[in-house]
Amino acid sequence: MKCIICGERDSVERGLCEDCLFKSVSVTFDASEDIVICPKCGGIKIGKRWHYRNKEREMQKRIESKINLRGIEGKTASVSFNDFDMAADDKIEFEAEIESSSGLKHTFPGEIHLKKLLNSCPECNKKTGSYYEAIIQIRSSFGEYDSSIEEVVSEAIAIENNLEKDHSNSFISKIEKKPEGIDVYLGRKTDAAQIAKAITDRRPSSLIVTKSLVGRREGEDFNRYTYGIRILGLTDGSVISMRDGTFIVKAIHKENTRLLNTETGKEKIVKSETLFRNDYRVVERKIQKRKFIVLSRNDKEAEVMDPENFKVSTIRGKFSGNEIELYSYEGHLY
Ligand SMILES: [Zn+2]
Ligand SMILES: [Zn+2]
Repeated sequence: MKCIICGERDSVERGLCEDCLFKSVSVTFDASEDIVICPKCGGIKIGKRWHYRNKEREMQKRIESKINLRGIEGKTASVSFNDFDMAADDKIEFEAEIESSSGLKHTFPGEIHLKKLLNSCPECNKKTGSYYEAIIQIRSSFGEYDSSIEEVVSEAIAIENNLEKDHSNSFISKIEKKPEGIDVYLGRKTDAAQIAKAITDRRPSSLIVTKSLVGRREGEDFNRYTYGIRILGLTDGSVISMRDGTFIVKAIHKENTRLLNTETGKEKIVKSETLFRNDYRVVERKIQKRKFIVLSRNDKEAEVMDPENFKVSTIRGKFSGNEIELYSYEGHLY
């Protein structure tokens, strides 16, 4: 019996000759594939994920998923790859083998060129500290380095460690100490934004974000962001001299700061932002609270003893417990 389509050759299956049986089959694929390779470790990036092991296998899976087979109804298909090496080869060759129901086989060869883009991977970036998308610059309102800056850096590290680590760029690249403060370099801009927000939400501070274009990466503009945070250089226990007297800083909050007049013992509340004006003099950077033993007390005052010199003093206020912590400044307790 002749083939029902061409009428020339003998039919071999379902009334078709071998040629006509496979004429409906089409194997299509992209002629080239963009692939990012790390020049340092050879890792490859497929889609959004980096692969460091079984790279050739991962690449095959990628290509296999993009090979389009049509007209294979009633037939089975399998794709096999020629051996290749991700580092050395610029193309990947494969064969799609189509088998008809009666066991006739035709192979369709294909070749995909690899367009390699070199880009350092997050693991290597982390190791060398070279990659960063953002810098958080922490500065004090006094324009010079002080320990309150270190406190904020510890906070930043703790926040970064608690962030969801589902992104490979979520890391601190490096921390740089400068005469005027500390710079924290981060692999991921959105981490920096979250940290900057958390830090500035908690304390009186200002935040200025700047962006600069530093080049192109993987075909896109690559910007770096700087989060300039200015925190108040004062801490609880700072002693400052203002126009209306000398004050101990009792408690700093985002909006308001409580000050204690060292002459009258009276409290004064000021807007925290006004302390950024630096229109006062810092007498002591920080005085420490000390423990005192409560000898007696009522609702209005307490009699306390200094355990260092056994001196007994009376302080105003309502206290609880057998020990209390107080500021001692120029012979007075607060
Ligand atoms: Zn035919
Ligand atoms: Zn790498």
